Amino acid sequence: MKHILFWVLFIAAMGGIAWNVKRLISYLSVGKPENRFGNVGERIRNVLVVAIGQSKLMREPLAGAIHAAIFWGFLVLLAAVIEALLEGLFPGANLNWLGPVYSLLTISQDVFCVLILVGVIWAFWRRNVSKVRRLQGDAAEKKDATLILALIGIIVTSLLLMNAARYGAGIEYSWAVRPVGHLLRPLAGSGSGAAALFETMWWVHIITILGFMNYLPYSKHLHVMTSVPNVYFGTLDTVNKLKKIDFEDETQTKYGVSDIEDFTWKQLLDGMTCTHCGRCTSVCPANLTGKVLDPKQIIIQTHHRTMNHAPSLVAAAAAGLDAAGGAEASADGAGDGKKFVGDYINPEALWQCTTCMACVQECPVMIEHVPAIVDLRRALVMMEADFPGEIQPAFQNIENNFTPWAFAASERADWREGTGVLTMEETPEEEREQLDVLFWVGCAGSYDDRYRKVTRSFAELMEIAGVKFRILGTEERCTGDPARRLGNEYLAQMMITMNVETLNAYNVKKIVTTCPHCFNTLKNEYPDFGGSYEVVHHTAFIDSLVKQGRIKGMTEMQHKVTYHDSCYLGRYNNQYEAPRALLENVPGLDIIEMDRSKSRGLCCGAGGGQMYMEEKQGKRVNIERTEEALGTGADVVATACPFCMTMMSDGVKATDPDGHVVVRDVAEVLLESVRGSVAADA
Ligand code: SF4
Ligand code: SF4
Repeated sequence: MKHILFWVLFIAAMGGIAWNVKRLISYLSVGKPENRFGNVGERIRNVLVVAIGQSKLMREPLAGAIHAAIFWGFLVLLAAVIEALLEGLFPGANLNWLGPVYSLLTISQDVFCVLILVGVIWAFWRRNVSKVRRLQGDAAEKKDATLILALIGIIVTSLLLMNAARYGAGIEYSWAVRPVGHLLRPLAGSGSGAAALFETMWWVHIITILGFMNYLPYSKHLHVMTSVPNVYFGTLDTVNKLKKIDFEDETQTKYGVSDIEDFTWKQLLDGMTCTHCGRCTSVCPANLTGKVLDPKQIIIQTHHRTMNHAPSLVAAAAAGLDAAGGAEASADGAGDGKKFVGDYINPEALWQCTTCMACVQECPVMIEHVPAIVDLRRALVMMEADFPGEIQPAFQNIENNFTPWAFAASERADWREGTGVLTMEETPEEEREQLDVLFWVGCAGSYDDRYRKVTRSFAELMEIAGVKFRILGTEERCTGDPARRLGNEYLAQMMITMNVETLNAYNVKKIVTTCPHCFNTLKNEYPDFGGSYEVVHHTAFIDSLVKQGRIKGMTEMQHKVTYHDSCYLGRYNNQYEAPRALLENVPGLDIIEMDRSKSRGLCCGAGGGQMYMEEKQGKRVNIERTEEALGTGADVVATACPFCMTMMSDGVKATDPDGHVVVRDVAEVLLESVRGSVAADA
């Protein structure tokens, strides 16, 4: 009778799981196609390191250990679950035939049961007693989290009691070794009492597991099912290489994302995978400074919208209607009749993102927030012309002057007056072939008074080292980075196309630039547009010159210096060491790291087009970062990016009115050391 009952329960539970998996896959099919299937080896490696190895979670050792105990514990308990199911399906079936492996399994199961219980209690404490900020959610979320923790607790406790009762009931397997079960044995009693306890705990264990698996698709813990696939299908490319829009494709009538059907299936899977852990939000510079942007909510709301809106789209597709038909059905009541951007996602939040990538870096399940945010911006800019008014001048200037600022294109090379730096155009063709590198100066390096000094310092260092370089001068245009990050892909591609034509016409092979935004775009995004070059940031370039002995004679500088990481150099391109190495070349410098440095570095607040927008809400990000820099006691804040230079300089002016602290590019610090004199103020 027990087995018939179990078979009925088992088939019903499996049917429920299969139905839910089919339902969720049909929701994913609403998204656009995207090829995330190649390079299986690297994908499996990611699963082993990130999903199984929990590598990203370990960036927060305590919370990581709790989660790892629960996750690895469940992997080990899988064998116990399989055994319990076998026992229910086929009387007398078990895994004892595994022999010594079974002994090992049963010992590990006992140990992990205890670790899971500790993890569950700890997680409950962090959520409800110590109230860790990033774990707080609305009432429904709290209820869901508590229910899930309770279910996990029941699964593990029932397994321990069930195993303890095996001894007294005389049904233990010969190879089983259960230290905790043994300890609990007195609790289980013996004879018929132990047998009854075993039966009861067995049913509690099995029903809770089957119920848990059927509840997951409706819970925030859906990630238990989707995390491994999401990590497997995670990007293998540079995560913030934005997708190219093919404007030649006449079948494409809509650009960017205005609702879930415009996302790719992988972006919808991201939504289903969010663990609600809040790690992304806890490092977001906008959120930390009191703005409405909450990257976790962008992902969660994408999931909510998918669950509410996808059913009508799936039904419409089945009825042969297109997405618009589905949307209409939704507005008619099949969905919730709401707008994705507006009702689910606050458009104001989208314009507060600095694209710093801290959220993506921290996400334990490889969710890609930044491309999603830019996709949403793209639809607002290109489909609805709905964007903050202050970026309109930047767009106009890029279009007319090839720079976001109101400077004439003809003045682009004026910085070189008195330097002897030549352009490609001024160089005979046979000499061009002999050049070491093209110096991409960038808009800030060309026009910004302060950053022109960095441009000249770097040019001087290259002269000292005997580097043969040229610039494009007035033939150089904005790389398109600000327009791209602000969602104006059309304008960005205008710039990119013109630049690629120019660079290819001069047969450029190697580019060096002082701007990490230019560096990232030229290096990672230009290849999609036919522009493939070796691109080096000036910090790595100077470092190699120092190592080759072409820059030497550094003199002592008695300063305390702290280096502020640029997001586009660090998190985007994993370049943390070269700028530090340059500073280490200077004798006497006392280099102090800020608490948030390298991959955890806090953004200066200027990326993603923020440079051209007003920061209207909360504390200014650059002030937050400057306070941290000054908190180290440094009298020099070193940077390696024109945007960081501007933001940190403004921050220092606001927080250090006495002017004790100066902001310097690392190239300037090195040059000052080579010259043997320190400028009082740049
Ligand atoms: S990229 Fe940076 S600013 Fe944008 S949501 Fe992520 S953490 Fe926040
Ligand atoms: S997006 Fe990633 S980091 Fe953010 S809450 Fe979800 S799982 Fe956590």
